[in-house]
Amino acid sequence: MTTTQHPSTEHYSNRIVLTTYPCQSVANPIPLTWGAASPTERGPVIVSRSKNTLSKRNAIGAHGGSYAIYTALAIASGDLEPDFRPNFLNTQPTFNFTPQPAWFDKTKIVSLDPFGHDIVKHYKHYLESGIDARPTIAITRATMRVSEVTEAIKTGRLPIDGSIVLNPHGDVRVTKVAAEPVWYLPGVASRFGVEEGVLRRALFEHSGGSYPELITRPDIKVFLPPIGGLTVYIFGPPERVSDPNIRLALRVHDECNGSDVFQSDICTCRPYLTFGIEEAVKEAQNGGSGVVIYFRKEGRALGEVVKYLVYNSRKRGGDTADKYFQRTENIAGTKDMRFQALMPDILHWLGITKIDRMLSMSNMKHDAIVEQGIPIYERVPIPDEMIPEDSRVEIDAKIHSGYFTTGKQITEDDLKQVKGRGWESWEDVTH
Ligand SMILES: [Zn+2]
Repeated sequence: MTTTQHPSTEHYSNRIVLTTYPCQSVANPIPLTWGAASPTERGPVIVSRSKNTLSKRNAIGAHGGSYAIYTALAIASGDLEPDFRPNFLNTQPTFNFTPQPAWFDKTKIVSLDPFGHDIVKHYKHYLESGIDARPTIAITRATMRVSEVTEAIKTGRLPIDGSIVLNPHGDVRVTKVAAEPVWYLPGVASRFGVEEGVLRRALFEHSGGSYPELITRPDIKVFLPPIGGLTVYIFGPPERVSDPNIRLALRVHDECNGSDVFQSDICTCRPYLTFGIEEAVKEAQNGGSGVVIYFRKEGRALGEVVKYLVYNSRKRGGDTADKYFQRTENIAGTKDMRFQALMPDILHWLGITKIDRMLSMSNMKHDAIVEQGIPIYERVPIPDEMIPEDSRVEIDAKIHSGYFTTGKQITEDDLKQVKGRGWESWEDVTH
C-alpha cells in the first residue's frame, strides 16, 4: 500500500511504503533460518529501511529498542544522515565467547541474536555490499565502583586481590555484555504457549498498529521490539562462566530505577542488587565465576508511572502486606508483566548449564530457569539486615505468594500486621 508523501521529507522516496506483502517483487528478503547450523547458513538479521536495504529486510521493527525513536528524531532534525553507516573499526568484542550448542538451536534462544556481537566477522560481505546490518550485542570491559562493595572491602568481607578487586576505593574489573532484543516470533509464541498469529496480532494492536508487517508478512519471522534489553556483568575471567566444573553465582535483576540508582527504600531492589554483586565478586575471587544480569523491565515491566500510582494507592489505603498485590492489580490489571519465560535465553547464550548459587528469591525466575533445563543448586535470599524497613510490606507479600525464603513462612494473618511507613509529617517539609 502506498500514499503520497509530504514534500518536505526530501530524504525519502516520494512513495511511502506503509507495509509490504510476501508476493511483491520488492520483497526480496535475505534468507534467515533461525537455529541453522552455522552463522553463514543462518544469515544476518536485516531490519533497516534504508534505501539499499528496504527490499532485503528479513526482520520487522528497528535497531536500538526504544531508542529507535531518537534515531528518527536525529534524522528528522537534520542531525543524522538517513543513509549513515557506522564505522565498526575496533568495536569487536573484548572477549570471544565460545559458540554454544544453544546458538544453533531455534528453541533455546528465541529473544536475542546469538551472532549479534559478531556481525562484522560473519556478515562482512553483506556490509561491504552496502547492506545496513548492525550489531545487537556488544561486549566491553570496565572498572566499576559501588559504594556497598567499597563498604564490603572496608569491613573485610571482600579482600583486595589486585585482579578483580583493585583497591580500597572499591574499583572492580568487569566484562560487560549489552544485548538488544531480537525475537524469533515462532519461538517466543511457543514459550508463552500461544499461536504465532495470536502473538503477532496482539503485538500489532497494542503497539498502536506500528508494525503492519506483523500481519502482512507472515514469511518474516524475526521482530526487533521497541523495548529495553539487558546487560550482563561478569566478574572474573569470562571463560569460566560456561565451565561446568567451575562454581557459578548468579543474580538476575530487573530494573528498579528508584531503588537501584536513587536508593528509595520502599523495596529491596538495590540492596539485593549490591548483595548480588558482592557475592558474584566473592565467587570469582574464590576461583569461580560471578554473573549479574540486569534487565530493563522497570517496575515489573509496568513502568514508573504505574508504579508511582500504585505507591500512592498503597500509602493512602493503609500500606499493609496483605493488600500489596491487590494494589498493583487494581491499577495494572495484573501484578507483574516481567514474564520470565524469555529470560533464560541469555543463560543459554553464555553457556550456563547449572547455577551453584542463585541470588534471587523469585519463584518465577527460578521456575523459568529450571524449566529450561538449567538446575539451581542453592537459592540465596537477601540477608534480613539488608531489607529496608519500609520494604517489609513488599518482601513479606512476595514470600507469602511463593518467593523462596530460608526464614519463617508467612501467614495471611502475619501479612495484615506488616505495615509500611505512612506520609505523616510530610507537609512539614517546607524548605
Ligand atoms: Zn524496587
